[in-house]
Amino acid sequence: MTEATGIVGEFLSLKEGTDADLLAMQCGDFYEFFADDAERVAEELDLKVSQKSSHGSSYPMAGVPVDDLTPYVSALVERGYRVAVADQHETADGHAREITRVVTPGTHLESSDASARYLAALVRQASRGEGDTYGLAFADVTTGRFQVTQLDDADPAAALSELYTFAPAEVLPGPDLRNDDDFLVQLRERSDAALTLHATESFEPGRARHRVREQFGAETLESVGVEGDEAAIAAAGAVLSYVEETGVGTLAAVTRLQVYGAREHVALDATTQRNLELTETMQGDSSGSLFDTVDHTVTAAGGRLLRRWLQRPRRDRGELHRRQSSVAALTHEAMAREAIRETLGDAYDLERLASRATSGSADARDLRAAQETLALLPEVADAVAETERLADSPLADALSGADREATASLAAELDAALVEDPPGTVTQGGLFCRGYDDELDDLIDEHEGALSWLETLPQREKDRTGITHLSVDRNKTDGYYIQVGKSETGDVPDEYEQIKTLKNSKRYTIPELDEKERDVLRLEERRHEMEYELFEDLRARVAEHATLMQDVGRALAEVDALASFAVHAVENDWTRPDVTEGDELTIEAGRHPVVEQTTEFVPNDLYLDRDRRFLIVTGPNMSGKSTYMRQAALVTLLAQTGSFVPARAATVGLVDGIYTRVGALDELAQGRSTFMVEMQELSNILHSATEDSLVILDEVGRGTATFDGISIAWAATEYIVNTLESKTLFATHYHELTALGDNLPTVQNVHVAADETDGDVTFLRTVRDGPTDRSYGVHVADLAGIPDPVVSRSREVLDRLREDKAIEVRGSDADGSNETTQAVFDLGSGQFAPGGETQRVETDGSPEAATADESAEAVIDAETQSVLEELQSLDVNETPPVELMAKVQQWQDELDEA
Ligand code: ADP
Ligand code: MG
Repeated sequence: MTEATGIVGEFLSLKEGTDADLLAMQCGDFYEFFADDAERVAEELDLKVSQKSSHGSSYPMAGVPVDDLTPYVSALVERGYRVAVADQHETADGHAREITRVVTPGTHLESSDASARYLAALVRQASRGEGDTYGLAFADVTTGRFQVTQLDDADPAAALSELYTFAPAEVLPGPDLRNDDDFLVQLRERSDAALTLHATESFEPGRARHRVREQFGAETLESVGVEGDEAAIAAAGAVLSYVEETGVGTLAAVTRLQVYGAREHVALDATTQRNLELTETMQGDSSGSLFDTVDHTVTAAGGRLLRRWLQRPRRDRGELHRRQSSVAALTHEAMAREAIRETLGDAYDLERLASRATSGSADARDLRAAQETLALLPEVADAVAETERLADSPLADALSGADREATASLAAELDAALVEDPPGTVTQGGLFCRGYDDELDDLIDEHEGALSWLETLPQREKDRTGITHLSVDRNKTDGYYIQVGKSETGDVPDEYEQIKTLKNSKRYTIPELDEKERDVLRLEERRHEMEYELFEDLRARVAEHATLMQDVGRALAEVDALASFAVHAVENDWTRPDVTEGDELTIEAGRHPVVEQTTEFVPNDLYLDRDRRFLIVTGPNMSGKSTYMRQAALVTLLAQTGSFVPARAATVGLVDGIYTRVGALDELAQGRSTFMVEMQELSNILHSATEDSLVILDEVGRGTATFDGISIAWAATEYIVNTLESKTLFATHYHELTALGDNLPTVQNVHVAADETDGDVTFLRTVRDGPTDRSYGVHVADLAGIPDPVVSRSREVLDRLREDKAIEVRGSDADGSNETTQAVFDLGSGQFAPGGETQRVETDGSPEAATADESAEAVIDAETQSVLEELQSLDVNETPPVELMAKVQQWQDELDEA
């Protein structure tokens, strides 16, 4: 291959100097991608590829206009690419290009959706204890939020759980973790985050500490209490250096180091979040999720906060109590609440605007939006202060977090500076109000004076010359000119100098006009420059108030989120749960928060405490087991966000984690899970859950052969009951497990009742104590319209099974009149009766004698025979369920053909 030179060569050498996935290089009015990048981008974004020849070679090339770069880069970043942007600038001898920024999933400012986009770093350090020490840092550059924590003596599962609660868009694994394949595989499998290998030096303790000090001030580490937390500091330093290196210019928005204890939050791993459908349904839709159901926020920031509350429930009773009290007050004060929500409806996203101001990307409209939103704070605060119940509630404290005076003065400054409806560009003037700056005022006076001289010129000239068809206009080539209609061109005075002849008119200029034109152009240019400079100053001053704007933004968001809880509670008749430090979970007449929206829901009770710790939930298919258990998890979760809950009454002892696992069978069908994953997740639960956790196991063990499944479920139950002592609900179709309820004192059986009359089943959806007494599967088959002979035969087989008796396989004579037996399945051995001896059963007393072989031949053809043989030789316990399904399908096809 020939060495590329020229523009492609420049591209390739810039590309080599960056570790970004793609490079967009400015070439005049376009940003171009070349070579492999061109093809990748074209494919992702449906762009046209052309060929660029360069010194005898030809390279693919794809480009976008300079002004359109942002949406293209956004689209690429959303797909997980890191995109470097090289800008072109003038130099003494032509122009040069250099990479000015790298846009990555975690540092992407122009995010189109309102949810947070976290960039995370995760660092592991070996420690003396059993587990390792993990440091985690999270930055949302779109809002300037920065949080760190450290987990001591933890295992990888705990670290990953913590990571997932932030749902990061991009993760920087620390030096030690990069070489841990197991860890990376887990990370990739359970998260959509892009993985970026950021320079190892930036994780180095000394450097990281220095970086953090530089950003937040020398004393900060000590004052927020992470002075000695090396892993946390390493993670924080790496995140900061990465944001700086990508050059998106948002570091200034990161003003505050927030340290949180992982112990403050309820552990919710990625699987649990998915199973509980917190922000997406299992099908991946946001509609129908818990968030979608309870979200009545009216601002983007409020929605973001509410979502975070659901993803990161709290364990701090004081904080939950404060939120509950605010929600309670808001439920009672409907008028004030709706007034506040209406006010909030006009708010813009202050946290994001603060970030845009500090990165220098805010325009005048952004600053106007900031002003209008800042001005809402006193309105909301007054509404709270004027309503006694609200004023006495913790809601008032939420608002006092933002400095009202400083807010008012920033809002006033912006209001006095910017015109009401500023233009979308900041280089064309028209941004500022009169009276903001004396010098600008003078300039504007002069400029407008010159403009009005021009405006009145046509009238003056008409009066002076008597010409009626005369106008003054301006265009790019001719500048200002006087235009006179063809019929009157003979009447123009001598000083009119002709500059152009058109079909119906002529254009002239006069010395005064030339002079004024020069004035106007000069004034215009000065005015644009001056306004731009003033605007940059103003933006910089606003950026200095980033923290204030973030405070106000968060205060408004909190009021919005709390009001949203109140609205949902009122509209759906939810109650305030009693959140305690105890370890019971009592739910009276509880409902499932999402299912109740679309169904006439049958409420159910739940009671768990020290002595009644583990419930085995049985009941027919479709009776409501899964719903009942999820409802318990969701009521607990909602209570720990400060929300009211769907129940008549509830007492929720605070939990430290919620763990759910749904048996692989339900997910297998959707190709989403394997038995291996099911077991890995069960393993994670058995490692992580404590006596303060809530564990939900739904048909665990079902993804494998029956005997294996029962054994695993049995052993896991014993382990949870005896060792972990977690509050647990376990739904199972293994009736065998109900025996545990009789023998382990804290294990109880409950069942979802069904009513049976005349062989028909009605699901009552009511949970009662005790195990379910029989399987309703056959009844469901009946309901579904399975032909009667099959249903009645199923009943017979079921009875035999219950009595542990052998079941014979039935066939029939060629004439169909006799029932015969071809083989007997022996339950004890799990096989067909040995020796291939099939017996003739006398069903009609016919004396006719036939050998077994003859009889079999008469009934079974070769094809059927081969299916039977295969069936006979198949080891059910050793065959995964999907394969079994496939097998049965295949046999059915073969029999159809036979
Ligand atoms: P199972 O896990 O026992 O197979 P599910 O919990 O999946 O049953 O519930 C089956 C169906 O019954 C679902 O469509 C669910 O919406 C509905 N359902 C469950 N519990 C209730 C209830 N208490 N009231 C009304 N409908 C319910
Ligand atoms: Mg179920």
